Amino acid sequence: MIDDAERKMQFLFALRSKGVTDPRTLGAMEKVDRGAFVRGHFADRAYDDMPLPISCGQTISQPSVVGLMTQALNVQPRDKVLEVGTGSGYQAAVLSHLARRVYTVDRHRTLVREAEKRLAAQDIHNVTVVSGDGCFGLPDQAPFDRIIVTAAAEDPPGPLLAQLKTGGIMVLPVGQSDAVQSLIKVTRDEDGLNYHELLPVRFVPLVEGTATD
Ligand code: SAH
Repeated sequence: MIDDAERKMQFLFALRSKGVTDPRTLGAMEKVDRGAFVRGHFADRAYDDMPLPISCGQTISQPSVVGLMTQALNVQPRDKVLEVGTGSGYQAAVLSHLARRVYTVDRHRTLVREAEKRLAAQDIHNVTVVSGDGCFGLPDQAPFDRIIVTAAAEDPPGPLLAQLKTGGIMVLPVGQSDAVQSLIKVTRDEDGLNYHELLPVRFVPLVEGTATD
C-alpha cells in the first residue's frame, strides 16, 4: 500500500518525466486533488497519467496533457482566462491557482452543475462556470489574456481568436475528432496571430450548439 504523500510524489514525478517542468504549473497541480474530480470506481486511478470517463460520455484529460497545456498557456497572476470545455472542472481548478479569474464554458448542463459543486467543495471561488456553446466564447467577458480549449476543432473558432487580447496566448487541439490531433499555441501580437505546433494529442470533439442534458 502506498500512502497519499507517496502517490502525490509519484504523480509529480510522472508529470516532470513527460515534460511538465514549469514550477508554477507543478505547484498548481500539486494543490488540486484530481480524485475529487473523478467519479466513483475510477477514483483510485485518479493519480495515473490517463484520461478517465466522466458524465455525459466525456473525459477528464490526462494529467500530463493538462500540465503541458497549462505550461504552454503561461498564465500570469492578473490574467483573465477562458476555458472552453469544463468537463469535470479539473483543468479550471488548476488554472484557478494561477490566474485572477477563470471563466469556463460547457455545452452539457449536467457537467456545469457537477463542476460548480466540485469547485466549491475545493474552496475555489475565482472560477465562473457557464452553460453554453463555447465556440462563440463569452463576448460579455471578452477580451481574455489566455484562452484554452479542451475539445478538438478542425480549426480555431473565429470568435475565440477575436476574443484574445494583444499579448494573449491561446492553446487548443486542432484536427479531425477520430484522428490524432495537434496541440497548437496561438499568440497575438501587434502584427496579428502566430501559430506554433506543440505535440500530438487526442481530445473529444468540440461540438457546436448546446446539449440537451
Ligand atoms: N477540461 C476538462 C475536460 C474536457 S472534455 C477537464 O478538466 O475535465 C471536453 C469538454 O468539452 C466536454 O465536457 C464537452 O462537453 C465540452 N464541449 C464540447 N464542445 C463544446 C462546446 N461547443 N462548447 C462548450 N463545451 C464543449
